[in-house]
Amino acid sequence: MHETGEEIELLRRTVRSFVESSLAPHEAAVDEADDIDPTLLHDLRRKALSLGLYGYNLPEEIGGPGLSAAARCAIDEEMGHTSMPLAESLGHLPGSLGFCDDGQRRWLIDPLLRAETTIAYALTEPDAGSDLAALRTRAVRADGGWVLNGSKHYISHADTADHTIVLAVTDRDAGLKGRLTTFIVPRDHPGFRVTRRFRKLGWRGYHLSALSFEDCIVPVSHVLGEVGGGFAAIMATINSDRLFVACRCVGMAQRLMDLALPYARERKTFGKTLGEHEAIQFMLADSDVELEAARLLCQKAAMLADTRHPDFRIAASRAKLYCSEMAGRVADRVLQIFGGAGFMCDLPIERIYRDVRGFRIGEGTSEMQRLQIARHILG
Ligand SMILES: Cc1cc2nc3c(=O)[nH]c(=O)nc-3n(C[C@H](O)[C@H](O)[C@H](O)COP(=O)(O)OP(=O)(O)OC[C@H]3O[C@@H](n4cnc5c(N)ncnc54)[C@H](O)[C@@H]3O)c2cc1C
Repeated sequence: MHETGEEIELLRRTVRSFVESSLAPHEAAVDEADDIDPTLLHDLRRKALSLGLYGYNLPEEIGGPGLSAAARCAIDEEMGHTSMPLAESLGHLPGSLGFCDDGQRRWLIDPLLRAETTIAYALTEPDAGSDLAALRTRAVRADGGWVLNGSKHYISHADTADHTIVLAVTDRDAGLKGRLTTFIVPRDHPGFRVTRRFRKLGWRGYHLSALSFEDCIVPVSHVLGEVGGGFAAIMATINSDRLFVACRCVGMAQRLMDLALPYARERKTFGKTLGEHEAIQFMLADSDVELEAARLLCQKAAMLADTRHPDFRIAASRAKLYCSEMAGRVADRVLQIFGGAGFMCDLPIERIYRDVRGFRIGEGTSEMQRLQIARHILG
């Protein structure tokens, strides 16, 4: 769908109001507890559902709203104004659900889109993160399905998700393109266990867990897409996921600037406002320019996605790399502008400073983006 500018602006305002009225008031408590009350999250999801926003990133063919990349960017930027655990309430669902067949659509996607169930996506393993060829979790064909053995870690929401999408090696002799298959593993399935939950620097209240599969038998009906099509499924969605991260980073940096500018206008030192000191002006000016550049990279990537241009892949890498690193620099400067107040937990600045760091790692590290970009420009 290609919405008008006005429609995108309306979506943006709807999300902004949802963030300000329903999510922002819970940020500090969720961060402090490193947990989110399941009832609260459930209520927030119902609210997002009633606003027509839940599952906003899914295509129409599988029951999503089929929004353009430009519209999704506007939503993701606005959601960047709140914390990661609370932003979960909007139901950004794994793009690989697009590979579901009609039967899976009924038992998997329909309840997900009604916000009755949740899903996790498990790719990373203790010995394989950036390097997909090193994945070891095995799935072997047996009577009645596939037997999974192996482990995953750093998996978002896997401790509470009703289903987990799992990438496993089904053909060890094949190249990366035919090696992997995607499975849907229900929670509490025999042989599937959440082995631990990680403590981490940021994204507090957003759980990352480790999983193990020990002779976990998954029926054939739970293969997502083609056998051997796991790599293609990753590739089909990875660029949209990178753009999603980039837009969230733009939103986080904007939130920081929204805090910094009034403070710089009001706070006085040596008889002048902070904004009258050149050192502070330079920090604000650099942040303003970088934020604008970041937003334009996202808009360009979205435009290429919406016109199905092959350069979307590289544009998404550029946006992901630049926006995630930009958000870190802006967070550092804004914390500095607030001085001691920036370091204290009374304001959201120290939380955002911690939270932005994860974006340089998840959805392909900065180094992986640089490798992609260098290969592209060098031919
Ligand atoms: C907040 C957060 C949420 C996450 N959620 C999920 C999730 O839901 N599901 C999931 O499957 N995973 C998830 N992950 C895991 C994430 O995808 C991996 O951490 C990431 O892909 C990096 O893999 P790794 O940690 O194994 O690092 P490694 O691949 O071991 O890399 C370590 C370092 O070496 C660098 N490096 C590696 N190879 C090269 C090279 N060839 N050249 C230069 N530098 C290189 C990397 O850039 C990195 O800096 C999440 C991670 C975070 C931080």
